[in-house]
Amino acid sequence: MSFFMPTKLYSGRDCIKNNASVFSAFGKKALIVTGRTSAKASGALDDIISVLQKDNIAYDIFDKVLNNPTVENCYEGGMLAKKSNVDFIVAIGGGSPLDASKAIAMYATNDIEPLDIFLGEQKNKPLSIIAVPTTAGTGSEVTQYSVLTVDSEETKKSFSTNDTFATVAFLDARYTESLPLGITIDTAVDALSHSLESILNKRTNKFSELYAKEALKLIGKAIPALISGDITFEIREILLLASMYAGVSIAQTGTTVVHSMGYPLTYYKGLTHGNANGLLLSSFLEGCDKANHSLVNELLGYLGLEDLNEFDEVLKKLMPNRNILTNEEAKKFASKTIKAKNVASCIWDITEAEEYSFFAKLTK
Ligand code: NAP
Ligand code: ZN
Repeated sequence: MSFFMPTKLYSGRDCIKNNASVFSAFGKKALIVTGRTSAKASGALDDIISVLQKDNIAYDIFDKVLNNPTVENCYEGGMLAKKSNVDFIVAIGGGSPLDASKAIAMYATNDIEPLDIFLGEQKNKPLSIIAVPTTAGTGSEVTQYSVLTVDSEETKKSFSTNDTFATVAFLDARYTESLPLGITIDTAVDALSHSLESILNKRTNKFSELYAKEALKLIGKAIPALISGDITFEIREILLLASMYAGVSIAQTGTTVVHSMGYPLTYYKGLTHGNANGLLLSSFLEGCDKANHSLVNELLGYLGLEDLNEFDEVLKKLMPNRNILTNEEAKKFASKTIKAKNVASCIWDITEAEEYSFFAKLTK
């Protein structure tokens, strides 16, 4: 049994401003890595620039990170980091910019071809990362994973090393206040998925369980607000904490079939990551229930839900659009995803036919 989570966390309102002295230890020049709008819309960019300027730290900005970033997209950022000779990275955004920053940090210090990042043979340590999440769901600020889109394989793949954890993360729920309701829901469901997939996983352990169960209790408190759409600041704080706890838990165990089955829904059908997971969660939980009814029951209790039917009703309220696949697509996705690495973590021996039956529930 082991536990590893080396990221130093600061949390609470104005935690960046209140801990401005943290930055100077990282060097004299930063690359701010972000998407097209989130850093500005959330207010995090202004806060970061203000502390960098106070500390006389120069910076460049790479604000081209795509949603579900591609390997090439990150390689471009890595080349900018190299050219600009930066000492460290400040990543601002949802899981996409945070994950991209881990790849950019690696490309900046290693002379490798874009796809070689998955070989795990990098000689040099990546640049250090300071992470500022602006969504509450992926937990990427406390995981070693970087999930990248690989067009040549028509899927998403992840790489990770013990050095790809962010060194510092700032958790300020103010930065999630500008999120539209739809992204708030999708990202919260991603955190729900992480918590469930981490416990209902062959690799679960006493340490990871602690965080995953706590995340479920927090998400349970937020479910009524997610359904009504009345998202107060208190709920935003709960969701950001839950996302972090769930991230800590998957950093120990990895995810399982929901995530691998969600990737084609994102790659081919354009669903957001959280939405893709959400459409598969009820089927996954039903399968887990057959393998370990008492555990599933216990987890539903943490969410404040009676049974699998109530769980399914909640997910259907949060994500009503479900008839999105043709039968051909359901077959193709099952045959592709049954080969994924994390299928082995499923608590029962899932078959291609079962995966097909999960996808078939999403047919038109
Ligand atoms: P995202 O792709 O980072 O962001 C989704 C959208 O929300 C983008 O358009 C983004 O704008 C916008 N946005 C972000 N923060 C905002 C804010 N505060 N106000 C307004 N708009 C905002 O979404 P995500 O769900 O957080 O991340 C998904 C990615 O994370 C996927 O690639 C997934 O595979 C990965 N992931 C990683 C891990 C891990 O452990 N590393 C775990 C789960 C998922 P911009 O265009 O400006 O960015
Ligand atoms: Zn996820």
